[in-house]
Amino acid sequence: MLDTNDYKKILLEMKQDLTHRITAIDKDIRHEGMTADWSEQASERENDEVLESLGNSSKQELSMIKYALKRIDDGSYFHCDECGAEIPSARLKLLPFTAHCVSCAELIEE
Ligand SMILES: [Zn+2]
Repeated sequence: MLDTNDYKKILLEMKQDLTHRITAIDKDIRHEGMTADWSEQASERENDEVLESLGNSSKQELSMIKYALKRIDDGSYFHCDECGAEIPSARLKLLPFTAHCVSCAELIEE
């Protein structure tokens, strides 16, 4: 059985990975070393859209991780934000940043 310190460690590692990923994506979008070729610019434009959505989902995940860390600090980590039920540890192992039990997550489509 993992305790909050274990989850905190996992979340901090995830946070660090994500922060690196977001920095790399932002750098890619800003095109350091821009090409002059038009056709290449068009494909870069498509690439940007993929990068942007990747960046957005990473940012969303990052904010969930930050929120989960806050929930560890205030002692509410193991309980659902919505109904207060205990979140099963199997679920937390799979989604350490979740703030909801399975049934509430289904309702709000987390
Ligand atoms: Zn719930």
